[in-house]
Amino acid sequence: MAQHRENDYIIPVLLVLYDYRDGCYMDIIKDKVSDYIGLSEEDLVPYQSRNPSEPRYRQIVGNLISHTNPELFQYIEMSIEDKKTKYILNKSGISFVENNLLSIKGKELGSAKNDAILNDFGVTNPEKNSNDQKIIKIAETKGIDKRPPSDMNVHSVIADMYGHKCQYATFIGEEHQTFIGSDGKPYMVIHHIIPMSARKDFFPKNLDVATNLVCLCPNCHERIHHGNNDEKREILKVLYDNYIRQLNSDGLYIGFETLLKKYY
Ligand SMILES: [Zn+2]
Ligand SMILES: [Zn+2]
Repeated sequence: MAQHRENDYIIPVLLVLYDYRDGCYMDIIKDKVSDYIGLSEEDLVPYQSRNPSEPRYRQIVGNLISHTNPELFQYIEMSIEDKKTKYILNKSGISFVENNLLSIKGKELGSAKNDAILNDFGVTNPEKNSNDQKIIKIAETKGIDKRPPSDMNVHSVIADMYGHKCQYATFIGEEHQTFIGSDGKPYMVIHHIIPMSARKDFFPKNLDVATNLVCLCPNCHERIHHGNNDEKREILKVLYDNYIRQLNSDGLYIGFETLLKKYY
């Protein structure tokens, strides 16, 4: 499981400060940031250094603020109150949160807007599809969390689950050849349908989840990333049509043309 790093906390900290419009102290930020981020076990273990019993994530948030991380501090002002430093969003911080983060936050919390988005995609009653359930089951029996941050175990579980076959080929009734990998099995690449580079758009949802992963032969994987427009569109459309319900049921909503744009 991947641990969070300093920059992973920038958006959660901004959202906390937005909730405390009059500003708040470091401790409150540390207390509240977990509301906006899925903490893994590793984030919760005590972290050596200054305060030996304080969980890792709290110390990272502390560092992020005490280092006055420039990406974060363009949106924050500091003042001293009761001899403690108080942090408050500045004007551009407020407008950044309002323009970029609030709609995403609403999505996560569930709302009428959520249903409207579902309807836009023709989904009225999203049900976990059987593929999704299968992936979760396999992951569970192997003791792997359903939100595996680029865990190679999960990647191999998914390749196993799809029989080391290119999913795109299967969907279009073909079989794609590949070479035998070092594990003695046909070599496949596990690909994120919604690219990880789009994760800011989906925060606080995690894109590195089994439902967003597909097994592709190396050739198709290169085509979807580096092919010309028609190549990309052709492969992605098939994957999209086959996976969109599964993505929706995991709270990930995106239209096809928007998704295609993420591949440039
Ligand atoms: Zn990929
Ligand atoms: Zn293929």
